Amino acid sequence: MEYIKDKLQAALKPERYRHSLGVCSEAVKLAKRYGADENKAYTAGLLHDCAKGMSIEEQINECYKRGVELDNIMLKCPAVIHAPLGAAVAAGEYGINDSEILEAIRYHTTAKSDMTTLDKIIYLADMIEPSRSFDGVELLRKTAYEDLDTAVLEAIRQSIFFNLKKNAVIHPKTLEAWNDLVKGR
Ligand code: FE
Ligand code: FE
Repeated sequence: MEYIKDKLQAALKPERYRHSLGVCSEAVKLAKRYGADENKAYTAGLLHDCAKGMSIEEQINECYKRGVELDNIMLKCPAVIHAPLGAAVAAGEYGINDSEILEAIRYHTTAKSDMTTLDKIIYLADMIEPSRSFDGVELLRKTAYEDLDTAVLEAIRQSIFFNLKKNAVIHPKTLEAWNDLVKGR
């Protein structure tokens, strides 16, 4: 694991590396709370942003090189590209072959329908780790340890609002996640 940390630290800006450590420890806490695999939460949390050290242009090139398919919508909201690319980089550069870890990395930005507990934990940990600050984060932090699905639903609501306010594209996977969680209530 130390080797993974060193490699990641070299690939990311200091602030992004600190965020990754924050997501990692938050994910382990959530895994404990909800009975998920703590080792998988640790690895997925640590590596979720492993492709974010590259510029968007480099990320797109890397996707072509590694055979990561990008839909048209992703090209219109390039901030999500590092997630599917991150799964490919975690597998190719960090030797991760566990499909649950790779899926949690792949969907940590858009979310999706039928998320596993690990998917939900990484999605939330990314939003609530200690260095995050935005309106509503305290409530989200509290809810995260009370009811996982309620917290994910609120996190997705925030993400959709955020994009609406910016006149930005909303990825269909995010809407799928929203519909899935709402209809399950
Ligand atoms: Fe990310
Ligand atoms: Fe992140």
